[in-house]
Amino acid sequence: MNFCPSCGAAVVRRIPAGDHLPRDVCSACGAVHYHNPKLVAGCVAESGGRILLCRRAIEPRRGFWTVPAGFMENGETLQQAAARECQEEALAQVEVGRLCAIVHVLHAQQVHVMFRATFASPEFGVGVESLEVKLAAEHEIPWAELAFPSVVFTLRRFLEDRAAGREELHFAAIERPPAQG
Ligand SMILES: [Zn+2]
Repeated sequence: MNFCPSCGAAVVRRIPAGDHLPRDVCSACGAVHYHNPKLVAGCVAESGGRILLCRRAIEPRRGFWTVPAGFMENGETLQQAAARECQEEALAQVEVGRLCAIVHVLHAQQVHVMFRATFASPEFGVGVESLEVKLAAEHEIPWAELAFPSVVFTLRRFLEDRAAGREELHFAAIERPPAQG
C-alpha cells in the first residue's frame, strides 16, 4: 500500500505504539491500515460417489482442476459462500455438510475452509469461471492437474475418511506456492 485509502496521503511502514508488527500507517491522518488473511470457502460435492470438479477458466492456475471454492463475501456465512461457489462455478445446487479441512495458505495470506456437500438436485453445468465441469470417480481425479495444494489435501483427506466411513476435520499449513507447470 502506497497511499492512504482514507485521505490519499503517503503511507509509511512502521510499528504503531502498543503494537508488535510493522503496519501501513498514514503519514497525514495517522490511520493504521491492517492486512489480514482472506477466507476462501469451498466444498467437495458428491453425487453417486463421484466428486464435482471444475477446470478453471481464470487465473491463477487457469486450465487446472479444482473443487468449487472462492473468496467469501461480506454478509454471508461460510456455508453460504461454499454453496454460492458451487452455483457460480458449476451451476450446481448443493446442501453443505460437515467441515472437511481448514488449510492455512500462509504464502498467499488465505485460509481455505472446505466442507463436504451433497447435490440438492442432480443438474450441473459449466459456470462462467469454468472451462469444463465434471463428476469424477476417485480413480478419475486428475491429481497432477489439480490447481492448488489445498485442493489436493482436501480431496485426499475426504477420500480417506469416506473409505473409513467417517467425517473428520483436518488441518494443514502450506508455506510456499506450488511449482508452476
Ligand atoms: Zn490518511
